[in-house]
Amino acid sequence: MASANSDEPSPAASTVNDDGRSEAEIEARMLELLHQFPKGISNKILDTDMPTVNKQIKVNILNELMSKGKVSMFKAAGTQELFWCLKSHPTSRIKGADNEERVVLGLIEEAGNKGIWTKDIRIKSSLSQATLNKVLKALEGKKVIKFVSSVSAPKIKLYMLFNLQPDRSITGRLWYNNENNEFESELVDLLNHQCFEMLQQQKEIAQQKQNEGPVTVRNSSFLSSKEICQVSSDMKLVKFNLTVEDIETILDALVFEGKVEKSTASDGNCNEKVKMYRSVAQPVPFASITKTPCGVCPVINKCGKVGAIQPKMCKYFNEWE
Ligand code: SF4
Repeated sequence: MASANSDEPSPAASTVNDDGRSEAEIEARMLELLHQFPKGISNKILDTDMPTVNKQIKVNILNELMSKGKVSMFKAAGTQELFWCLKSHPTSRIKGADNEERVVLGLIEEAGNKGIWTKDIRIKSSLSQATLNKVLKALEGKKVIKFVSSVSAPKIKLYMLFNLQPDRSITGRLWYNNENNEFESELVDLLNHQCFEMLQQQKEIAQQKQNEGPVTVRNSSFLSSKEICQVSSDMKLVKFNLTVEDIETILDALVFEGKVEKSTASDGNCNEKVKMYRSVAQPVPFASITKTPCGVCPVINKCGKVGAIQPKMCKYFNEWE
């Protein structure tokens, strides 16, 4: 099963799956399993428990749970196997939380990374504005929640759990500064460099498998865009949620630069294809060749073995690096 793409639509609670269960029932069963296996559940556990449930439905439900901040995904040490586990409930981290704080926190948690407006919290909680302000201030002080401003409505405060990254609909266009609409070239350069470094490191790790043959070395040097996205997100290089598609735009730029090779592979658990990338050594000193002075020389038509302009007298060659 592939890692989740948060831009995919959330499952409708009323949808009925092939095995007769609604997606809400499947989600409830998944939550039971997550409680039963606090260290995490894998695809194998899910497939054993619900073999007739469509894999894409399971992915969608796990995506939804992750976007709500209820579940986190991780990779088991030393393997490529993905696991999902429950995140500790924020209320359990608040000592002495009163009922009002629990109600407000529950509403904020439910809103996930899209956040919730103060007005909606007040209506749903039936608290007075003064009480709500006091509760929000207390929760902010405990660093359990935070507020963010939406690019579409900068004056409105949207509250979400402290550890969540705001949804793209809140942060605005990717790679562009929302204030001055300028292209975030430094951010792109940072991600570009980071992605390349990851692939270089993977290549070095793969080189250690020389005794297993060149095919193994080559195959081991690939990383999927999903893996790179996961590591980049964990490193918190950016303040918004990085999607696999975002990372692929960066990786594709590296492919165009000739630094990286792209391939596809089947996911193994799903029938979908995943995009794989590996660092490649540059076959020739690319930059030097492109800087050859003859390529832009205004007198190239007059340059030859005889005459006033000859390569052996050319001063540009001495300046060529
Ligand atoms: S050798 Fe010098 S003068 Fe001749 S074409 Fe090249 S750059 Fe121009």
